[in-house]
Amino acid sequence: MNVPKYKRVLLKIGGEAFAGPGGMGIVPQLAEQVAAKVRAVRQLGVQVVIVLGAGNFWRGKDGIAHGMDRTTADHIGMLATVMNALALRDAFERLGTEARVQTAIEIRSVAEPYIRLRAIRHLEKGRVVIIGAGTGNPYFTTDTAGALRAAETNCDILIKATKVDGVYSADPRKDDAAQRYEFMTYLEALNQKVGVMDSTALTLCMENNLPILVLNLWQPNSLERAVLGEKIGTLITSGNEPWGS
Ligand code: UDP
Repeated sequence: MNVPKYKRVLLKIGGEAFAGPGGMGIVPQLAEQVAAKVRAVRQLGVQVVIVLGAGNFWRGKDGIAHGMDRTTADHIGMLATVMNALALRDAFERLGTEARVQTAIEIRSVAEPYIRLRAIRHLEKGRVVIIGAGTGNPYFTTDTAGALRAAETNCDILIKATKVDGVYSADPRKDDAAQRYEFMTYLEALNQKVGVMDSTALTLCMENNLPILVLNLWQPNSLERAVLGEKIGTLITSGNEPWGS
C-alpha cells in the first residue's frame, strides 16, 4: 500500500518552473503541470505548502547590479512571487483542487495575508496553501522563506524542486565525471557551497533539524516517490541513517 512517509511537506519551487523559452513569464500549461504533480501527492493524503520564487520575472540582484536600492529591488522580487502564486492557484482551480494563496506582504484584495494558524487550518481541510511574497522582508530569498514557513507550519520536510535530479559533485552539464550525492549533511552542503540553497536557508533547516530533499520536479512521479520515502534526489540532514532503516 502507498503509505506516505511524510504527512506534511513544504515544496519550494523556483519561478523558472513556470517560464517559457527565454526563462521569462508564466506559461499557464506549465503551471497546470506543476499543479497536477502536487495534486497527485495530495491524493496520497499528504498536506502541501508551496513557496514560490520569482526567477521568471525578477531577482533582487538584477536590480542591485544596476545600482538600485536593495530593499526596493527585493520588494519587486517579492511582489513578483505573488504573480506566480496567483497563476498556480488558478491552475489548481482548473484541476478541481482547492488551493489558497497567502502573502507575507498584505495585498488583501488579491489574497489572504499569511497567518500561520489559518494556513494550518487550510491544510487540515485538504487545501494546498501557496505562500507568496517570501518572508515579507528584503535581504532574503524564497529558499529561506521555504525553510521558515516549513518550520513554522511543522512540515516534515522541505522539498526543493529543481530541474536537476539532486546535488552533484560538479556541474553535470559540464563535467561527465560529476556524481550525484544520495545524501549530504547540512555542514557538507554549507561547506561545499553547492549552490543548491543559500546559507541562510541551509542554516535555518540545520538549526531546526528539518530535512531537505533536492529533486527534479520534471522527472515523472518524482514528487510521489519522494513523499513515499523512496531514494530519490539528494537528501540533506544532520546525518545518521538519513533514509531511515
Ligand atoms: N525576496 C526577498 N525576500 C524574501 C524572498 C524573496 O527580498 O523573503 C526577493 C529577492 O529579491 C529574490 C526575489 O524576491 O531575489 C525572488 O526570489 P528568489 O530569487 O528566491 O526566486 P527563485 O530563484 O526561487 O525563482
